[in-house]
Amino acid sequence: MKNNWLRKTIRSFEPYVVPEIREHTVINANESPYNIFDFPKVKEDFLARLAKTPSYHYPDPFAEELRAALAKYVGCKADEVLVGNGGDEIISLIMNTFLDPGDTLLTHTPTFDIYGIDAEVLGAKVITVPDLDGYRRDRDAFLAKIKEVQPKVTVLCNPNNPTGELLPLDYVEALLKAADNLVVIDEAYLEFAGAPSIITKLSEYDNLIVIRTLSKAFGLAGCRVGYGVAQKEVIDALGLTKLVYNLNILSQDAALAAMDYADEILAHNVPPTIAARQRFCEVLAEVPNLTVYPSATNFVLVRVPDGPAMVEALHQADICVRSYKAADLKNCLRITITTDDVAQKVAAVMKEEAAKDA
Ligand SMILES: *Cc1c(COP(=O)(O)O)cnc(C)c1O
Repeated sequence: MKNNWLRKTIRSFEPYVVPEIREHTVINANESPYNIFDFPKVKEDFLARLAKTPSYHYPDPFAEELRAALAKYVGCKADEVLVGNGGDEIISLIMNTFLDPGDTLLTHTPTFDIYGIDAEVLGAKVITVPDLDGYRRDRDAFLAKIKEVQPKVTVLCNPNNPTGELLPLDYVEALLKAADNLVVIDEAYLEFAGAPSIITKLSEYDNLIVIRTLSKAFGLAGCRVGYGVAQKEVIDALGLTKLVYNLNILSQDAALAAMDYADEILAHNVPPTIAARQRFCEVLAEVPNLTVYPSATNFVLVRVPDGPAMVEALHQADICVRSYKAADLKNCLRITITTDDVAQKVAAVMKEEAAKDA
């Protein structure tokens, strides 16, 4: 294949290599340790739906039953929800719908890579505002940047992946008020934050798009169900370029079963994760040469003296965590919090390894 067959915007892209995972404790992707099919009622509900699902029919293009269930869950109207093949599809749809080549995407750094990648594919320009010390976002600089450039699309990940920081709703509202164009708030981890969603203010902002997912707190990462929430006109616009049958029937059935028992699933999955996160942070906070950044999510970012050595020590203990190449995340590891047992095992390994550098 000739390199110039590729569209110009992607010729310098490196292939996305997923390293082979040999460890048994895999806590590198913020997955839940809980399987919805282990809840007997959810499994029964799913199987009952499956029994009534003919394989030969195309799925409902807008997953009407599911969008109604998700709307009820977040507290908006069904026509204010668009369901996608993971939150990743919603991000991609947003960029496809609103960015022309040369347009500007504004976000902060470090954050989720996908926003910038999708924008670059489209030939848009990505501007990032770096965090202050301690991975606290530079709120004033970000707000000022919106006013200065009026980017076509602004993205704020809240709480942020990979730093875990949650910003309050009044700040999010200040961004929405400052922007003439769209502001995307990625709330993939909101269920772990114990804070209200900006969806509560949806009726006031025609430029707001919220990204949510069932991959994290609900433990449906394998089913690929995410959704966007915005006023109807924006949702209709996102539907313009969507693949017609973007969400398969099996995923719709699984997501519907999860929504039927949303309260039970969250009550089961979230409090133990938060308790395990707190204990993990408390233990590591006492280790002199580790820096633990406060998190409102199901993961914790930790700065260690020697990143590769710590990754190796965890690997020796059969644990796979997320590390980074980016300069602003040097020697940082992102630890997904699953159960308390696992978190305490990880903490013990990290404490022992950090002591070697003392
Ligand atoms: C996990 C995640 C998503 C969405 O993931 P999907 O599995 O595609 O739903 C979106 N944003 C952030 C920041 C995430 O970490």
